[in-house]
Amino acid sequence: ATATRALFMLFGATGDLAKRKLYPSIFNLYKKGYVDNDHFALIGTGRREWSDDTFRDVIVESVSANADSEEQAKSFASHFYYMAHDVTNPEHYDALSDYANKLDQQYDTNGNRIFYISMAPNFFGTVAQNLKAHNCLSDNGGFNRLIIEKPFGRDYDSAEELNNALGKSFNEDQVYRIDHYLGKEMVQNVLALRFGNPLVEGIWNNEYIDNIQVTLAEKLGVEERAGYYDGSGALRDMVQNHTIQMLTILAMEDPISFKDVDIRREKIRALKSMRVYTEDEVRKNFVRGQYGANGDQLDYRHEDNVPTDSITETYVAGKVLFENKRWKNVPFYIRTGKMLSDKFTRIDVVFKKPLIDVFAAAKGSESELNNNVLTLFVDPVNKIILRLNGKKAGQGMEMQPIELTHTQSDEEKAVTPEPYERLIHDAILGNATNFASWDEVSRAWEFADVIRQVWDKDQPDFPNYTPGSMGPDAADELLERDGRAWVFNS
Ligand code: NAD
Repeated sequence: ATATRALFMLFGATGDLAKRKLYPSIFNLYKKGYVDNDHFALIGTGRREWSDDTFRDVIVESVSANADSEEQAKSFASHFYYMAHDVTNPEHYDALSDYANKLDQQYDTNGNRIFYISMAPNFFGTVAQNLKAHNCLSDNGGFNRLIIEKPFGRDYDSAEELNNALGKSFNEDQVYRIDHYLGKEMVQNVLALRFGNPLVEGIWNNEYIDNIQVTLAEKLGVEERAGYYDGSGALRDMVQNHTIQMLTILAMEDPISFKDVDIRREKIRALKSMRVYTEDEVRKNFVRGQYGANGDQLDYRHEDNVPTDSITETYVAGKVLFENKRWKNVPFYIRTGKMLSDKFTRIDVVFKKPLIDVFAAAKGSESELNNNVLTLFVDPVNKIILRLNGKKAGQGMEMQPIELTHTQSDEEKAVTPEPYERLIHDAILGNATNFASWDEVSRAWEFADVIRQVWDKDQPDFPNYTPGSMGPDAADELLERDGRAWVFNS
């Protein structure tokens, strides 16, 4: 492993995400030698008045499950420093800057700085601007990179405003917008499978593929996130970012190299070909839902912190079209929602049937052939299943579906990093492949905004699906109308 020297500055260091994901991820990188153990420090800030010792106790606690010994956890935590800080108060940044310079010297970090904003999005711009204005960025040849959490705006205009605010302090190539779905093993495997196999890439087009289905299903409801969620809804929370990112990776053309700039170029090209719907097309091609009650399960409108007349969607299904040569007439169906039958993410690539079924022709019967389906299980297990038609053992020529399955082994599982670990590592290396660029984010908002605007005009008939189901009937009808069906439906 190449160890990188760096000073981290984390805003939101007392927060839930930091404790659950960020500290364990940085710890794993430290253990594996990806951060230089002698030349790394982190300044954490938050509203609470913590001492360094309190902060370090929190760090030790949050990494203890992954630590080989308490010594190791403590030695890691000794690199952590805390400053109580109100991010809206400009004066505090002067103190931060002084502290950063001091630690830079103490740890000899080559002036490399990684800023991580893990706070509510209304603070993203403020922090970025103050960092620059108060000389918190290093200027002695080291790198300055900004990692920023989601959500990136709530529509095109707010995203652009945020981006302009960041742009005053950081160049686009210094900004790393987190979309943790891009850090998932099987999402990255899509690129490996496509561009590493002529067998796959050779048929990855409208001549052989009938349709592609992407499902991001959650079993739980809104839980304690209702306050945020009700102002957002599934379209903003899941479609504009994760779902469209996954579609892009499925739809993009082959990059000329695996460098981040080359991959981004192709992703953007794919997004530019994604059809932005007219109002009528939205009504035809997109379905929204909100869960009702089921036994003890309250309907969405009676969950804590949800207004009883809420028209926020907890479910979205839709048909997405890429208007280019490769994908002409191939619909990409997407769906995501809460309170569905199970928690999973999967991609089903449905291939066309043979033009002629010679077996049925010989028997003068109906065709028994199924569509070939390549299913990529993204969560909770990493698995690939290819469904083919094969011969049923015995006399005659009866057909039956057969499945070729690859499941990630325990050994592979053990070396698969959590998305956050992988993404922070990428940022340390300066590799932006698995982060969302502004061109991607903005295009995705243009697409989502049109849907949002139509939905804000029309009154939905909510609730319209039962907890534990796979969503409203209209989501099935969306495919039935095209003579198709969801591969997974139970
Ligand atoms: P949180 O509410 O638990 O933590 C917020 C942090 O911000 C705390 O450290 C708090 O002290 C700090 N803070 C708030 N106001 C401040 C101020 N004025 N000055 C200084 N510090 C201030 O939030 P979280 O769950 O850790 O989420 C952080 C970010 O990550 C959010 O943007 C959220 O959308 C995003 N995110 C969270 C999750 C998750 O699972 N929690 C998942 C995806 C994205």
